[in-house]
Amino acid sequence: MTNADYPYAGRFPVHRTLPERGTPREDVLAELRAMAAEEDAFWETGKCSGTMYSGDHEHYRFLTEAFGLFAHVNVLQRDMCPSATKLEGEILAMALDLLHAEAVTDTTPGGLVTTGGSGSILHAMLAYREHAAARGLTGVNVVKPETGHPAFDKACRLLGMELRSVPVDPVTTVVDPDRMAAGIDDRTVALVGSACNYGYGTIDPIGDLAGLALDRGVGLHVDGCLGGFILPFGQELGYDIPVFDFRLPGVTSISADTHKYGYAFKGTSTVLFRDRALRDAQYFHLPGWSGGKYMSPGIEGSRSGGLLAETWAAMVQLGREGYQAYARDIFSTADAMKAVVGAHPELRVMGSPTFCFSFTSDAFDIYHVADLMRGRGWRFNGQQYPNAIHMAVTRPQTQPGVVDAFAADLAEGVAYARTMEAAGKQAFSGAIYGGVPGGMSLEAEEFIVSVMDDMLDVELSVPPGP
Ligand SMILES: *Cc1c(COP(=O)(O)O)cnc(C)c1O
Repeated sequence: MTNADYPYAGRFPVHRTLPERGTPREDVLAELRAMAAEEDAFWETGKCSGTMYSGDHEHYRFLTEAFGLFAHVNVLQRDMCPSATKLEGEILAMALDLLHAEAVTDTTPGGLVTTGGSGSILHAMLAYREHAAARGLTGVNVVKPETGHPAFDKACRLLGMELRSVPVDPVTTVVDPDRMAAGIDDRTVALVGSACNYGYGTIDPIGDLAGLALDRGVGLHVDGCLGGFILPFGQELGYDIPVFDFRLPGVTSISADTHKYGYAFKGTSTVLFRDRALRDAQYFHLPGWSGGKYMSPGIEGSRSGGLLAETWAAMVQLGREGYQAYARDIFSTADAMKAVVGAHPELRVMGSPTFCFSFTSDAFDIYHVADLMRGRGWRFNGQQYPNAIHMAVTRPQTQPGVVDAFAADLAEGVAYARTMEAAGKQAFSGAIYGGVPGGMSLEAEEFIVSVMDDMLDVELSVPPGP
């Protein structure tokens, strides 16, 4: 651990116990404001991949006001907040409409608002498991392309389901439907396809997977956590994006994150079902409990009304026009950045990505490039097998000057990588989801545990101040 890992320890009190007396509100806020301002300055440059989808402080102030009006409300107690019924229902209706649930005629579509993409995937997997169990089918499995998000692996581990991972084509980075077919057996409840996957920003052949799912009588979950709120607008803008939503009869559920390209605050996502019966299979109820008949529509119990309010506010305020305008800027910025990468013969964009993309090199370890660009304020996500740099283009990159800075810094990075490779030097950056930390080899389980322990425990072990 270095000082950089706990930069606030020397500046603000470290609380190891509840303070004996309370702290004035102004002092509490001053401390928070200081940390927030410094951390915002880091991404406001537009040099951070993903994570800040809107990046617009005026938008954030608007969401904060909407959130504040209902932050204290528990939407589990619906008798006290009929507004939640309106807000949640409308969020779902708008999301279903965006993903063309009107094409569904044989069943009634529905959805759930969850706490994030992982939550949406967990609820979908739970629904498939419970729906199968009601038909007497247990010990079930799910088949995903290797590039499918780890949230599927996490959900399957939590739910005691088997996850079958199918390798993708190394050139296109998408899955071959025949290989998916080979993974199906009589205990398969669902296939997974990504539109798009996080790693490469590429879209699996959802049309083929939907046909396969129908053919074999299994579900197909389309992971639109990343793409769900932007790809439909890319389609409208004329980009070459295949149909991946409920217009395909084999698509039985879709996850789409409001807290990514829906431009809402972190803490909400939607999971949408072609047939409400699938969603309803995972409803929880305990009618015989002494504390009263208990029921919850999903895994969470108490939930904040603020999250529904700010998510609804973002969607209604932006409207189709607002989302399309943002999508236009993001797609054209991504195209410009891909062209910058493509101009270097040593670099290779992987597959045919859309608004987010990855690139690698066959000439040198691409992490040398990340090392140099890190020093210029860039923060990418690192990938492995093969090593690659991931860039999710969001609104902060659409600011004037960011693409030019990318071009200049990338050119320097390539020159640096050539030199380092020739000198036989090892790169410093490594592959970790959500950032490229320095000097890490993430192979040892012990090391992985220590990274997570540090997130949670480091301030406890900070030496007491003078
Ligand atoms: C972000 C993401 C997820 C997981 O979402 P969280 O909100 O981080 O839980 C799942 N799938 C894809 C494709 C994603 O990009």
